[in-house]
Amino acid sequence: MTCLECNTPLSYLDHRKAIERFGFELCPAHRERMERLLKQKDLPEETVILYYGLKEIGIASMLAWWDGKQTIDLAISRVKLNISIEKEHEPLNSEEVIQALEKGMMDYKDGFTNIRITQSLIRKDLRRTVENIAGIIADLRVEVKAI
Ligand SMILES: [Zn+2]
Repeated sequence: MTCLECNTPLSYLDHRKAIERFGFELCPAHRERMERLLKQKDLPEETVILYYGLKEIGIASMLAWWDGKQTIDLAISRVKLNISIEKEHEPLNSEEVIQALEKGMMDYKDGFTNIRITQSLIRKDLRRTVENIAGIIADLRVEVKAI
C-alpha cells in the first residue's frame, strides 16, 4: 500500500479513504490535491478514476487540460484525443453499458478525436473502458504515422 504518485507508504485508514473515493492508492496529500482539482474544475471523481486506470496501463493523460477555449476532462495530446466524462440522468444497466462502450461515442473536430464516456461506465467496467481507450489510441497512432 503505497501512493501511486510518490510511493509514500499508506496507513490502513488512508488506504481505505483513497480506495473508497477513487479506487486507487493515494497518500492524504495527493488525495486532497485531486479532491481540490475536482472541486475547482467542477469535474466528477470518475475523471480521476479513469486517469489512474489509464496510467496503470502506461497511458499518460492530462487532467483538466485547458485547450485555450475550454477545459478538457482528460486529454491525451500526443494523439489529439480528448475525453469528456458525461453525467447521465438515469443509471445504465450492464447491457446498456456494454452497448455504449461498443458504440464508442466518438466524434471528430478540428483534428481532434473526442470521446464521451459516462460516469457509470467508468464505475462499472473500468478495465474495459481503459482497454477500449487503449484501442482507440493505437488506431490514432497508426493514423499519425500514415500522414
Ligand atoms: Zn502521494
